[in-house]
Amino acid sequence: MIEISCEACGWLALTNQPAHHVWAEHVAGCPAVGGAVRHIPDLPPLPQRLPEIHACKHRLVRRQIAVTAAGIKRYAVVCELCGRRVDAA
Ligand SMILES: [Zn+2]
Ligand SMILES: [Zn+2]
Repeated sequence: MIEISCEACGWLALTNQPAHHVWAEHVAGCPAVGGAVRHIPDLPPLPQRLPEIHACKHRLVRRQIAVTAAGIKRYAVVCELCGRRVDAA
């Protein structure tokens, strides 16, 4: 449910319809002189996005990722704990 209110006439609506639809209807019918004024409620504070914590200390291992046509093995250095590729070799 969203709350929509008009500061000009005190109209208040609780709706689960799209706010702009409901508001547009009120704008058309608002009795206030000078027209409807939408009250914008204070938005709740956004949750603080914590920086990604890199708890992994990375245990690096070389993994064979491919063998070229010439038979040369290619490796990538990955972390065997988190699977992140650290450096292509
Ligand atoms: Zn109004
Ligand atoms: Zn890791």
